[in-house]
Amino acid sequence: MSRIQIEGLTRRFGDVAAVDGISLDVADGEFLVLLGPSGCGKSTLLRMVAGLTAPTGGRILLDGRDITAVPPRERDIAMVFQSYALYPHLTVARNIGFPLRTRRRRDADARVAEVAAVLGLEELLDRRPRDLSGGQRQRVALGRALVRDPGAFLLDEPLSNLDATLRTATRAELGDLHRRLGSTFVYVTHDQVEAMTMATRIAVLDRGRLEQVGTPEEVYDAPASVFVAGFLGSPAIGLLPATLRREGGLLWASGEDVDVPLGPGDDPSGRDLRVGARPEHLRIGDASGGPRWRGTVRLVENLGGEEVAHVQVGGGRIPMRGPRPLGLAVGDPVALTCDADRIHLFSATSGRRLVRAPQPTRAAAAAAV
Ligand code: ATP
Repeated sequence: MSRIQIEGLTRRFGDVAAVDGISLDVADGEFLVLLGPSGCGKSTLLRMVAGLTAPTGGRILLDGRDITAVPPRERDIAMVFQSYALYPHLTVARNIGFPLRTRRRRDADARVAEVAAVLGLEELLDRRPRDLSGGQRQRVALGRALVRDPGAFLLDEPLSNLDATLRTATRAELGDLHRRLGSTFVYVTHDQVEAMTMATRIAVLDRGRLEQVGTPEEVYDAPASVFVAGFLGSPAIGLLPATLRREGGLLWASGEDVDVPLGPGDDPSGRDLRVGARPEHLRIGDASGGPRWRGTVRLVENLGGEEVAHVQVGGGRIPMRGPRPLGLAVGDPVALTCDADRIHLFSATSGRRLVRAPQPTRAAAAAAV
């Protein structure tokens, strides 16, 4: 059981700040996912917690103890890498038991059997890694971390070498394992689905900085920045430029073929905005007095159960998704709307989310125009 506190952690490589002053408080028993694009600093951050990379600034506390300068072996933290790094000449049992043997633990065999049972590896204990599937190797690597019974697990893209089916199955197994163990997990991925499905909280990173940390629902439903809004969600949220205008007692965010009533109480700090709605919240319709986009269908994608229509609105494009068939064809003119509380507004200059006042009802908004 471990709480991990990261305070102003920084790692520079020459001129590059791979991790730039990140602070995070990972509660005991949490499944925290570090999410972001390639090169955003996720692995560097995780390696610093493991003790494999030295920070150039900041501190790391484990259950209140400053471990910034403590060697990896003495941290009570186990790390599982993307490449499983199993010993090819050792059996599964010896691979799992390896950390115990190097520590000369007498109960090693019993402990290996226990871990193998947790991971469903009992039948495979005498095999060598080359005779295992990718998913089985991944479980052996996890077993090697588990056997030490550490306070916290650090996992760096552990599923990325698996095929799609196995990844989905192992994702569910990992979530289940976390619930059973009750240990602290810190998990690095660039895969938003892994983050959304497994995390108790997601920390979204961009260029070495923490953009937002929150539950999956918080980061998806109220993204703190244009970056977070665009990184989570598939297809990505459509965001169009808009400016503020005042009409009928309401403020409107308006752009080319976009009109969104903001309500009298709203006071966004900048005049230049970016306004958007997630594809699944848009629907076909022309709500007078409500949010409205007018455009032309440019592409319709069949996803099986659903369709995505990419609609050209002014100079930009927004996707909408819904049950198939949407009844739209390329070239069709279309008006889109959504519930007012599904609108996302960002400052065009800072990219940060603008906090919105309670929405007017559609009827009130229509009456005011
Ligand atoms: P990925 O998903 O591709 O693994 P990441 O988010 O884990 O990416 P990091 O591996 O932490 O990113 O790298 C962050 C930045 O630091 C990158 O710009 C990378 O090139 C740089 N970097 C990482 N390690 C080193 C190193 N040893 N020397 C120089 N630069 C490094």
